[in-house]
Amino acid sequence: GLTGNKGWKPVWREPDPKPEYDIVIIGGGGHGLATAYYLAREFGMRNIAVLEKGWIGSGNIGRNTTIIRSNYMLPGNEPFYEMSLKLWEGLEQDFNYNAMVSQRSILNLFHSDAQRDAFVRRANAMFLAGADAELATTDQLRAELPFLDYENARFPIKGGLFQRRGGTVRHDAVAWGYARGADARGVDIIQNCEVTGFDIENGKCRGVQTSRGAIRARKVAVCVAGSSGRVMAQAGMRLPIESHVLQAFVTEGLKPVLPGVITFGAGHFYVSQSDKGGLVFGGDIDGYNSYAQRGNLPVVEDVAEGGMAIMPMIGRARLLRSWGGIMDMSMDGSPFIDKTDIDGLYFNGGWCYGGFKATPASGMCYAHLLARDTPHPVATQMRLDRFKRGNLIDEKGQGNQPN
Ligand code: FAD
Repeated sequence: GLTGNKGWKPVWREPDPKPEYDIVIIGGGGHGLATAYYLAREFGMRNIAVLEKGWIGSGNIGRNTTIIRSNYMLPGNEPFYEMSLKLWEGLEQDFNYNAMVSQRSILNLFHSDAQRDAFVRRANAMFLAGADAELATTDQLRAELPFLDYENARFPIKGGLFQRRGGTVRHDAVAWGYARGADARGVDIIQNCEVTGFDIENGKCRGVQTSRGAIRARKVAVCVAGSSGRVMAQAGMRLPIESHVLQAFVTEGLKPVLPGVITFGAGHFYVSQSDKGGLVFGGDIDGYNSYAQRGNLPVVEDVAEGGMAIMPMIGRARLLRSWGGIMDMSMDGSPFIDKTDIDGLYFNGGWCYGGFKATPASGMCYAHLLARDTPHPVATQMRLDRFKRGNLIDEKGQGNQPN
């Protein structure tokens, strides 16, 4: 402001695409940018382009509700998400950018004895992976969160599972931090460059066609989240993924009222409070398949009902905005980081509701796969053929849980 906004330097370059790269990453969302960053920083690879059809931050990385956590259960998932949380904890120092990482805690409420048993089991699995977990009784919650509706006869709160190291991160700053870090190490970030086809010769992917011309590459890494089905169809592949809209909502700014993230266990509702004071919340996906980035009214009503069921005071807050993003919903709620049957073509997607928290680990594991051609130890089960083999990572309760 004091400089009159003059003389500000762009945070990353705007290069024209070169005719050829070692690795072309399709999709300049959080995962694509993180992959480029770790390829350069961890594996010393610099001849890389990230191709983004819109602008950096225009996809889900700039649309999510910013929640991070590692409260998964299955061995195919939990070590991966715990690695991600550890990377979040050091991220701002690592890429020297303020991403407002705030470990303000996440609380999953439970509403029945059976649900408590399931949460205890999950907490034990979290301990095994080195994560933190804490069970809270209703009395503890009443003292800490007096505004919740404990008298609700339909879904009485019977306690909750805390992960105190969970919390929120400023989502678009994550894209900018990774973009700046990758650019500084020589990665070309090319915006307004849509991939329209793959150059596949004798079963090997040798490059891509784009709205800015053909680009050759030794390896092509797809990382387009909600557009996964459409982009991989250009390579003749059909994925075990459906695309749905997920909506989010923010209220007018209020005084601090929510200490952390809270999720409702008897319906789809989760809420946190941003540093600007808005209550940021969401719920279930829209029920039909769609590539639209805005949702429909039945889910708005469903989310509002969920909020009122646990936190009736939310009914007094005025809604400021709502928006939507396209979710790449896999059939078992878990993601893919894998090679494809086409030599030189790699795929990362299927993040469902929960890919924001995965951003650092996804970038690290995808970079590992691209650089070494072997999966990272915490991502060995995230394979594309797991449905064919019957080795699902069936964590719908967590992977498909919003946020
Ligand atoms: P994106 O940012 O969508 O990146 C993909 C990019 O690919 C886009 O920029 C797109 O323009 C580009 N692209 C597509 N097609 C092409 C093409 N042909 N050529 C070039 N580029 C292309 N996760 C959490 O962990 N916590 C949350 O609280 C949470 N809340 C959410 C709330 C909402 C409303 C939404 C929509 C999502 C939420 N998620 C959350 C999920 C999370 O945002 C996503 O799983 C994650 O951001 C996906 O990875 P990405 O950042 O790489 O995706």
